[in-house]
Amino acid sequence: MAPKIDVDLIIKNAQELLTLSPSFKDESELGMIQNGAVAVKKGRIFWVGKTEEISGKLSLSRDGREIDGTGKVVMPGLIDAHTHLIFDGSRENEFEQRIQGLSYQDIAGRGGGILSTVEATRHASFDELLFLGEKRLDRMLSKGVTTVEAKSGYGLSLQDEMKILKVMKALQESHPIDIVPTFLGAHTVPKEFREERARYVDLLTEEMIPQVAQERLAEFCDVFCEEKAFTLEESRKILETGKRYGLKPKIHADQLSSGGGAELAAEVDAYSADHLEYASPEGIKKMAAKGVTAVLLPGASFFLSMKKYPPARDMIEQGMAVALATDLNPGSSMTESLPLMMTMGCTMYKLLPKEVIQATTIHAARSMGREKEIGSLEIGKQADLLLLDIPNYRYLPYHFGVDHVETMIKKGKIIYQRTF
Ligand SMILES: [Zn+2]
Repeated sequence: MAPKIDVDLIIKNAQELLTLSPSFKDESELGMIQNGAVAVKKGRIFWVGKTEEISGKLSLSRDGREIDGTGKVVMPGLIDAHTHLIFDGSRENEFEQRIQGLSYQDIAGRGGGILSTVEATRHASFDELLFLGEKRLDRMLSKGVTTVEAKSGYGLSLQDEMKILKVMKALQESHPIDIVPTFLGAHTVPKEFREERARYVDLLTEEMIPQVAQERLAEFCDVFCEEKAFTLEESRKILETGKRYGLKPKIHADQLSSGGGAELAAEVDAYSADHLEYASPEGIKKMAAKGVTAVLLPGASFFLSMKKYPPARDMIEQGMAVALATDLNPGSSMTESLPLMMTMGCTMYKLLPKEVIQATTIHAARSMGREKEIGSLEIGKQADLLLLDIPNYRYLPYHFGVDHVETMIKKGKIIYQRTF
């Protein structure tokens, strides 16, 4: 008989092990193994299969841990594909004003809106932003999130954008959640450039992008392509410049109007196009052909009481990978809860439970080019996984607004365990 191989961690007897791997075919389309088990060695997935297959094959190393998943669901760690993680200040006063019927323009006129967050973030110190970022990441962690995409964009000057990106870098080093950094200097035109916006685009393309790339502070370059933010031509120039400096393109597209953002995402080979409420049928076809991932943000639809939802079912029918994210930001989606977005994805966008699980794991990984590393439980991938105290996968978006994570494993280590 072959000797057993030592591993560091085994989870066995899972009611449903969701691998999200195409190698395990089943009707849930989640690569589900019933009575499943997963083994981890040196921070990586070492083995996946049925619990009864372990004996004779695997044993625990001296400090190894075994976790019993009886009656529970095991799945990959959740991935939040779109957040504005680092900002200071909050806008609950605007929330109240909107309830009372004030429009975004009224609020901006009174000194509120995005520029008030820019003001607060510019005044914040590195340490203040670090502290706020840490608290937000901790909240995400308790919801089952193991990787998060984070955008700059509340600095809008070379110095303040660099400050935000450096906070993200420090958090990547100190916090267990992985951060994928995106430069979003093209979030809005800052007030000092309101009368000469072309000069701000020059600042972005001639100084900020080169500097961010040189210091390797971002992996992606994003732009808010919208009538009230950056035009198609400006967006194209910013994203093409980013590409020349090695920053991969992403785009906030067609949120408030159909402005050709989806088509531009296809043209520049964006990794993702985000929002997409008003994406045209032609734009969806083009994005599908280019393999652009749609990142949909139901928290913003919900919080702003938007009448128009993105055509999520059309996107799936056209073959697009659809991801869901929180869009965490102080103006339009003040939440760290990705599981809540899964429920909203079902009720508002008519995604199925299996689709919102794909949307927050493997498709979210694809939106940031990490699908070979995270997002599914496959041999060799990073061991980021969750043990959920739920009886089956459909239960996850169904029982909403509460936390189901019992144990979280990040890079093979238990980093969170519910204590009640
Ligand atoms: Zn956003």
